[in-house]
Amino acid sequence: MTDVTEADWVSRFADEVIAEADRRSPGKQIVCASGLSPSGPIHLGNLREVMTPHLVADEIRRRGRDCVHLISFDDYDRYRKVPAGIDPSWAEHIGKPLTSVPAPPGSSYPNWAEHFKAELVAALAELGVDYRPVSQTQMYTSGAYTDEILTAMRGRGRIDAILDQYRTKGRSVKISDKLSAEDAAAAAEAAEGSGAASEDEGGAGSSYYPYKPYCSVCDRDLTTVTAYDDATTAMSYTCECGHAETVILRDHRCGKLVWKVDWPMRWAFEGVVFEPSGVDHSSPGSSFQVGGEIIGPVFGGVQPIGPMYAFVGIKGMAKMSSSRGGVPTPGDALRIMEAPLLRWLYARRRPNQSFQIAFDQEIQRMYDEWDALVSRVAAGTATAADLAAYARAAGTAAGPLPTTPRPIAYRTLASIVDITTGDEEQTLRIVRDLDATDPIASLDEARPRLDRAANWVLSYMPAEERTHIRDEPDQDLLATLDDNQRESLRMLAAGLDDNWSLDGLTTLLYGVPKRQLGLPLDVKPTPELKVAQRGFFALLYHLLVSRDTGPRLPTLLLALGADRVRKLLGG
Ligand SMILES: [Zn+2]
Repeated sequence: MTDVTEADWVSRFADEVIAEADRRSPGKQIVCASGLSPSGPIHLGNLREVMTPHLVADEIRRRGRDCVHLISFDDYDRYRKVPAGIDPSWAEHIGKPLTSVPAPPGSSYPNWAEHFKAELVAALAELGVDYRPVSQTQMYTSGAYTDEILTAMRGRGRIDAILDQYRTKGRSVKISDKLSAEDAAAAAEAAEGSGAASEDEGGAGSSYYPYKPYCSVCDRDLTTVTAYDDATTAMSYTCECGHAETVILRDHRCGKLVWKVDWPMRWAFEGVVFEPSGVDHSSPGSSFQVGGEIIGPVFGGVQPIGPMYAFVGIKGMAKMSSSRGGVPTPGDALRIMEAPLLRWLYARRRPNQSFQIAFDQEIQRMYDEWDALVSRVAAGTATAADLAAYARAAGTAAGPLPTTPRPIAYRTLASIVDITTGDEEQTLRIVRDLDATDPIASLDEARPRLDRAANWVLSYMPAEERTHIRDEPDQDLLATLDDNQRESLRMLAAGLDDNWSLDGLTTLLYGVPKRQLGLPLDVKPTPELKVAQRGFFALLYHLLVSRDTGPRLPTLLLALGADRVRKLLGG
């Protein structure tokens, strides 16, 4: 595997994490962590919560150190609201643990949390993310945290005092006040996917308790702890449903610590050394900051190194949301791009830099950039930063990720699929003609990139940009052409057969106006030549697809076949 110890942001965090881990407990397995709430679709912004520690953990493993990446699924959090598009009757489940809520109608999964976890789990496998899943339902209901829960209850006065500093200051400056409307929307969206959405801190004042039981009758958390005895661990609670009871907390398996206490408890329990958080967790009085104050005095642990990560925006979302609804998920991205490209987008930017993932035409430029990077790496001209980002994208400590054997430019593939509407036989014919010296034998050589480009054309290419090839020549237009234009079409038609490849047709197309102007084929473009070429290309688009522009002309010609091109050009 490529050595990537060159100092990029991942490397620097790995240095820091290893030093901190060795300071705390030398020789022990190093723990990096992420937390995700399967309260709904886990979107691409949440993926940064996974990719940041993944990349750091992967770098630590590349250095030969034992490192685990825990992904905590906060599936024991309460079900907060019924999302748009779901039967309103699901409202009866509000307040229950996510694993106790039925999956959305039509799902094959046993409950709400599992339904939304499943797509992410599949995407993480494709992305090469090596992690250990931790279900908080499993942890809480098995009693794994019993000692920690009793510790938190004993320390409730201290916790209450820490939380109180921020209560009295009030929440006058909310982080969202300082953000643009778009970032605030993303913050709200991010908060939806995290425990930060649970504002309940467990009451205040003399009756403060950091533990919230789920009611043994209605299964909801509409409960209030009314009394607790440290010696016997007897805890009394009432529920809005009318139920009231006293349980022995030491044996109780149906409740959880409130979020701001739950998080530092888990840092201590798991010995987490690295866990990043979104900006929604990093403001004054936020769960990350408060957790840092709670973990030492209450749980005797140390707060992890926790960089804040910025938002991930989606380009082309406006167009998309009308047709699909909601924010795209990693699974949506992997249907239109290969795993290394998606990994690269997260690896090349420092966590505090925001970036966008394109679902619109920009995806073609993103792919061009990636291909250019791959070429630089192959040619040995890549910078150290390029090499590091490439190596993190193309594989992990476990080995390289699958690639496309013959990576034809994404924009070319998109054009071909657009023109052929995905017809395999036609596609193979065109793809074979792209490179006459080393023709592709089977479409499998162009996969999976071809399939990703096809999915993009079918799902995200705007209908008005799809290409519709003329069935019959445009006789009206042909009748208006001057001699010069007729000559240019004759020169093109005459050269098709001898130049039937992507490169050949490119040279032919640019060459026709040069020859008409009496210029040598290797001439540098002059303003006059550029005007002539633009005019020639526009004429061809009108004759072939009845528009000013379209897919790149060499690709379009290959797709049509020489006979059809000659026919539409009036030959
Ligand atoms: Zn109840």
